[in-house]
Amino acid sequence: MNELQRRLVRRIRAEGPIAVAEYMAQCLLDPRDGYYVRADPLGRAGDFITAPEISQMFGELLGLWAVDAWQRLLGSPREFCLVELGPGRGTLMADALRASQALPAFVAAARVHLVEASPTLRAKQRQALAGHAVEWHGGLDSVPEAPIVLLANEFFDALPLRQFVRTERGIAERMVGLDASGEGLRFGLGPAPSPWTPALPRALRDAPLGTLVEYSPASIGVVRAIAGRIARQGGAALAIDYGAGESGPGDTLQAVRRHGRHEVLDDPGEADLSARVDFAALAEAASAAGAAAFGPVPQGVLLERLGIAARAAALAAKATPAQAAEIELARARLIGGTEMGTLFKALALVPQGSAPPAGFTEDEGLFRGQ
Ligand code: SAH
Repeated sequence: MNELQRRLVRRIRAEGPIAVAEYMAQCLLDPRDGYYVRADPLGRAGDFITAPEISQMFGELLGLWAVDAWQRLLGSPREFCLVELGPGRGTLMADALRASQALPAFVAAARVHLVEASPTLRAKQRQALAGHAVEWHGGLDSVPEAPIVLLANEFFDALPLRQFVRTERGIAERMVGLDASGEGLRFGLGPAPSPWTPALPRALRDAPLGTLVEYSPASIGVVRAIAGRIARQGGAALAIDYGAGESGPGDTLQAVRRHGRHEVLDDPGEADLSARVDFAALAEAASAAGAAAFGPVPQGVLLERLGIAARAAALAAKATPAQAAEIELARARLIGGTEMGTLFKALALVPQGSAPPAGFTEDEGLFRGQ
């Protein structure tokens, strides 16, 4: 049993079972033993690899997306906040800023704000972005009110998620409690009806008996805050994540360690915990808060529309044959039908009535308002 498990067991003994969302939050961000706090989990040597770590092309294309949004959708304001949520090693932002140097006015106008909870990863980001003026925040609240261009890759899937089961007695929340030995963790159900019931989307409340449904109030809260800023100040946001375009039932909480599946309740804090992002719920929340949503479109489609083929060809032209082969592999991995290209999806938020952001078409607009 590791130290975090010992502390979780003590906490549950004292307070009773805790919600899956609380378990997830403590496993990921416990100030001492949290997964993102203990070490840097990203990359080939770590537990999982993300798109910006696969290839510089990812961050470069998102940088050009940001430049286009600033110019065409925001009208080139002299100052704006370039925000990234959960920047990991800072690779995406470093690549985006390098690519956007093609337009010096954009770089001059950008105030870079990073929302990052982990001190360990903040230190990595500081290194990756040495030479840039950067401000860190624990949440979006303290980012100044100004037009924003916001990027988030694999951020929403790490936000705490609540799980519910529809029982005969009403909706019950799935909790983490103690097993018979009193030393191990196991799942159970809280009292029904859960006080969360009225907050749940109708489709979830009406799911068939026994169905497990997921809801992430934390994600909805962040999207509402982004959408509110976009509605008040103008801006554009692009979120890319592993997720589904339509809300559906099922337990998608998963633990990953050393590039393989792990049991969710085993070795807390030593495995990454994430869940499928419900893009439909995010788009609806954004629209209710005054923004328009585009997508989600598969990551592969977005990257192709943003010009990954041309970018790969340009890089390959200056590369050795071995490097050129690597560039081609990375491109295939980012857009491939059986890999990230379809499992990952991109959702964009812009002001209501706005033209589509780069990489999205007019008919991919949802909840566009007037
Ligand atoms: N975007 C990066 C990293 C993805 S991992 C990439 O694509 O490589 C998730 C990131 O979100 C990490 O940087 C993690 O520390 C951060 N994070 C997770 N939960 C957070 C929270 N509640 N608030 C702020 N940052 C969070």
